[in-house]
Amino acid sequence: MHRTFLEKLLKLGRIPSGLLFYGPSGSGKTKTAIDFAKGILCLKKTPWGCDECASCRYIKDFENNFWKGETDNFKVYEESEGKKAFLYLRGEHPDFIFVPPHGNYIKIDQIRGIKEFVQVKPALSKRKVIIIDDAHTMTNQAANALLKVLEEPPEDTTFILTTDKKSTLLPTILSRTFTVEFKGFSPKEVKKITGVDDTIAKLSGGSLTKALLLKENTNLINKAKEFLKGDPLTVYKIADEFDKWDTSIKALFLELLESFLMDQILIQKKEELIPLMDRIRMLKDGFPRGLNGSLWLVEISAEVGGLV
Ligand SMILES: [Zn+2]
Repeated sequence: MHRTFLEKLLKLGRIPSGLLFYGPSGSGKTKTAIDFAKGILCLKKTPWGCDECASCRYIKDFENNFWKGETDNFKVYEESEGKKAFLYLRGEHPDFIFVPPHGNYIKIDQIRGIKEFVQVKPALSKRKVIIIDDAHTMTNQAANALLKVLEEPPEDTTFILTTDKKSTLLPTILSRTFTVEFKGFSPKEVKKITGVDDTIAKLSGGSLTKALLLKENTNLINKAKEFLKGDPLTVYKIADEFDKWDTSIKALFLELLESFLMDQILIQKKEELIPLMDRIRMLKDGFPRGLNGSLWLVEISAEVGGLV
């Protein structure tokens, strides 16, 4: 599912400035991040890359060496005051860097390196891509420095963060990135382990925790569906309830809206709904900080109006 959705973004040329690939280790986040980067940078604008243009060839070369663990030639350091600090990996592609943890952490020097890279115009492709792998390993200092960059996202740069520990990332970083979830368990496995029904197993996105939370709050599924139908009375009623819910329930409700909208975009091909995904993401960011959730929901509903 995530691959189909990402491909859609590439085809439409709607590349968000920040993406977060989230899922258990071994679910292909880094691989997909590099593939997606290849697609963004491809000179022929082929989704996932044409594998033939100069841009694709540079990324492929990087990738081949990367998976073999042969990255010594790619390591970029910065010298300052006699000290050598590791910044990132960079192959032949001038518009692509890969930022892995150094030792156990991604450090502030590395974010400084990113900041400098952000300021340079793309040299080969139309955009630049920065992959921050295992983003949860950023030190506090590094995370705050990155946040400043994400707050004023450079138009020509896409950040792809990967993590298997979403909860340890700053909420403000989460809110500035579009989360793409990588499957942990298959719906069948979720069903078997947690005893939930097919609908919940599918909506859980492979997460057992989410499946259990949905099982305890099955009424939310119908509420989300009803909400999207847009009957004003129902919308106002749900919006009103929303403000009284716990944070975890609010987040779950918004994730359900995202799931149903994504179905509409992929299955019903309603691409005009894509901007709404952004609006919901912004609400997810805003409600912990006291943003008026009910008001936002009413506005979002007005935008969905008749589209679902
Ligand atoms: Zn290409």
